Amino acid sequence: MAVTSLFTRLNPLAPKSVDTDMDIAIVGAGFSGLGMAIQLKEAGIENFTILERAAEVGGTWRDNHYPGAACDVASHLYSFSFEQNPNWSRAFGQQPEIFDYIKRTAAKYDLYKHIRFNTSIVKSWFNEDEGRWHAQTADGDELTAQVVVSAVGALADPAYPKIPGLDDFQGKLMHTAQWDDDYDLSGKRVAVIGSGASAIQVVPEVQKAAARLTVFQRTPSWIMPKPDRPIPEKEQAEYAERPFKLHKRRFRIYWMSELFAPFIISNKKFFKTQAEKMAKQHIRKQVKDRDLQKAVTPDYAIGCKRILISNDWYPAIQADNAELIADGPAEIKANSIVLKDGREIEVDAIVCATGFKVPSKAAPFQVQGLNGLDMNDAWDDGAEAYKGVAVSGFPNLFFLMGPNTGPSHTSVLAFTEMQMEYIGKAIGHMARNNLQWIDVKKRVQDRFNRGIQKRMENTSWTSGCNSWYLTDSGKNTTLYPGFNWEYRMRLWLFRPSEYHEQPADRFRKNKAA
Ligand code: NAP
Repeated sequence: MAVTSLFTRLNPLAPKSVDTDMDIAIVGAGFSGLGMAIQLKEAGIENFTILERAAEVGGTWRDNHYPGAACDVASHLYSFSFEQNPNWSRAFGQQPEIFDYIKRTAAKYDLYKHIRFNTSIVKSWFNEDEGRWHAQTADGDELTAQVVVSAVGALADPAYPKIPGLDDFQGKLMHTAQWDDDYDLSGKRVAVIGSGASAIQVVPEVQKAAARLTVFQRTPSWIMPKPDRPIPEKEQAEYAERPFKLHKRRFRIYWMSELFAPFIISNKKFFKTQAEKMAKQHIRKQVKDRDLQKAVTPDYAIGCKRILISNDWYPAIQADNAELIADGPAEIKANSIVLKDGREIEVDAIVCATGFKVPSKAAPFQVQGLNGLDMNDAWDDGAEAYKGVAVSGFPNLFFLMGPNTGPSHTSVLAFTEMQMEYIGKAIGHMARNNLQWIDVKKRVQDRFNRGIQKRMENTSWTSGCNSWYLTDSGKNTTLYPGFNWEYRMRLWLFRPSEYHEQPADRFRKNKAA
């Protein structure tokens, strides 16, 4: 028997899912987009399409394949709760294994047939007469959907540094998120710009391969030891044979992360002092030179930028073939980098570990909602959504990893899985009540965000440092200022009274007229 979706069964207006005319469009086939698709399938909903700009699933784990790319959240938590993997080979997963897990999961849930690859959305608008979203692709196709779920990820578009002369560089230029696997680093003079999460992973690998390495560290990061270890096959077999053990391990990691959350989030002196003590101990243990100790010790409160974990960053920058420049480059020439003190260093390759353009400050693409409201105008003072999921004035558009839902201390999936469930409940409500669209009330959204920004005042993130968490005006629109368990409680119920509703009947009449 053909699977009839809950949505189609209960909503007679829902058109049959065809390539350009969709009931539910999910934008992005990364972790969260695929998770949303699985959630829909589990609810019996099959009439959805995933629009993916690349030619493979995986999002950030497809793009970030630089040497050393790994996750700084423990593997057993950085995976779907409903699709646990007993065979993680390390406590902290590395990119090839995570990417394999994502592809395997997409295949297992038969998602590939739902994906329209090489489809990049450039703009979308809500047609009020039809009560449907329209979207234009980069190829000029026009698609429509009743419900859109944006799962484009927070860190998808690489940001290159603004350094005079960068465009004139004649050697090899790579961003960590656009790594060229065919480029052989051996024997090369390589510069890495940046000292954030990507830099601390790529630098030790570049140092091993290159003839000479120069690292440009404009701002040092707070770095903790990484409690990584290989997971022996015997232990993996135990997890496979006794799933209870696997669940127990995940449960333990989740609650340990929650326990440590105040050390990262709170700006209270007690937590900061304890955390900084640990990080400084790590520096003293791995760096003996006093001047270098000073150069790698941050002068801002721990937690203000992302706290990193690494056992091999400090050793790598002290290797015989390595040099740390405690500043950014002044200028780049055809075959060299000029330092701020005037020294010039010849290089064959430059690696930009300089992060991403943060879409939380702007819409992922041009989006026009009710009454022609442009999302960039609605988000003039920084992105805001209700519970990070719905934005007033943009009916039937839901976000995964939306504003203020970034994790600082735990797995992003602990947030997105809850959002998927919430969106599933919203779609279920529309289907059961034959609604064409729902739109979160502005006052509900505003009240929620007032609370979020009030709590931000007591966090490390607003304690005075420059980070991608903040907008130009200093507002944190990216992270959730609290425990994950508490965020989960907030999303437990879908409350229809918080939304304006538009019955589908009205649109049927419109159509007939
Ligand atoms: P990032 O944290 O934004 O770091 C960018 C680095 O580039 C910073 O050190 C920055 O210095 C430096 N930089 C930028 N422009 C520069 C310039 N003109 N001159 C010198 N230095 C410059 O980016 P990222 O390391 O790619 O990490 C971004 C996020 O991705 C992380 O916060 C994390 O959420 C995620 N990530 C996660 C993992 C993981 O293990 N799960 C791994 C990698 C990335 P300033 O600090 O002075 O601005």
